[in-house]
Amino acid sequence: MSLDVTGKSGTIGIIGGGQLARMLAMAAARLNFRTIVLEPQADCPAAQVCNRQIVAAYDDEKALAELANVCDVVTYEFENVPVVAAQTLAASVPVYPPAEALSASQDRLTEKRFLNDCGIPTADFAQVDDQASLEAALSDFAGKGVLKTRRMGYDGKGQRVFKGGEDLAGAFNALGGVPLILESFVPFEREISIIAARFRDGTVTCYDPAENVHLSGILHTSTVPAQLSDAARTVAVESAEKLLAALDYIGVVGIEFFVLPDGSLVANEMAPRVHNTGHWTEAACVVSQFEQHIRAVAGLAPGSTQRHSDCVMTNLIGDDISAVPHWLAKNDCLVHLYGKTEARAGRKMGHVTQLTNPGKPSLSRQNTP
Ligand code: AMP
Repeated sequence: MSLDVTGKSGTIGIIGGGQLARMLAMAAARLNFRTIVLEPQADCPAAQVCNRQIVAAYDDEKALAELANVCDVVTYEFENVPVVAAQTLAASVPVYPPAEALSASQDRLTEKRFLNDCGIPTADFAQVDDQASLEAALSDFAGKGVLKTRRMGYDGKGQRVFKGGEDLAGAFNALGGVPLILESFVPFEREISIIAARFRDGTVTCYDPAENVHLSGILHTSTVPAQLSDAARTVAVESAEKLLAALDYIGVVGIEFFVLPDGSLVANEMAPRVHNTGHWTEAACVVSQFEQHIRAVAGLAPGSTQRHSDCVMTNLIGDDISAVPHWLAKNDCLVHLYGKTEARAGRKMGHVTQLTNPGKPSLSRQNTP
């Protein structure tokens, strides 16, 4: 059943209270939905704009029972929601995207196997459980590769790049002695991502792929359109369709790819949620990724992913927040701040989307089965 948009009811639970939950709550409010956020940190970014925050751990049984009781549907803003919490909730309230999407994406090893099973190529990879398996894997990869923690890594954290010839002593324990994955080093020309959404009737919508630049492992800019061949664009869309169908997915997903010099795509990772590389959609598309996600989980019709302008989204990280007056003075920029009072180094404080070619009509794609 779809949620009621008349304003009489329609409550969406969101696990996690960061900026993504904040932007989801704002999109939900525009469609007359109430939002209740489960987040242990009091006065989180989402708390300022949602109807209510339950201040408790993500796996707090009492809090989960309360969330299930007061919500018509529950979604989440990050992929490290405990799978058991999503499963517990799903016994009494619809949870979208499904818990299987969390299991697939929380562990880089499971994620790569899942992508490959969907027919989506990734870098070669090897499971690394100790110093001996690290040395064996590096020797298989000619000494080169990117070593990553399998779980809880984000924004380039928990990673080490090997270029060949390094002293390997202690290398396994240096990443915390936790399960790791070694990926072959992908000599990419650029990085792109696609934001797609799947609806209850199986309809899939995709936004135009964005071209992304990372600095110190953190997303710096997303530029749209990406420099990409039509063939590669089609591969990105078809990859999203395959992945979403395999999970019987509902909601928005972000998939990141490396573009090789021959133009082919290699998937890096998937995120079962709205994605930083899709923030530009709020300024340059008819319906943003946030509204599209809310529409999908609420059982509403898909919105148009039509892009009306070219654009560049720039993340405001740490002290970049002091440049806000500069961005506000421009007449082609949409500034979005996250309500965080402390500007720590590496912390995402907001973003700005600059329209670079306003009014230019563009691609969008919707496949209804
Ligand atoms: P990740 O945490 O997997 O998103 O990695 C962060 C960034 O590190 C990516 O956006 C790439 O710029 C780079 N990177 C990650 N994995 C690889 C790889 N296998 N080969 C080359 N560069 C990579």
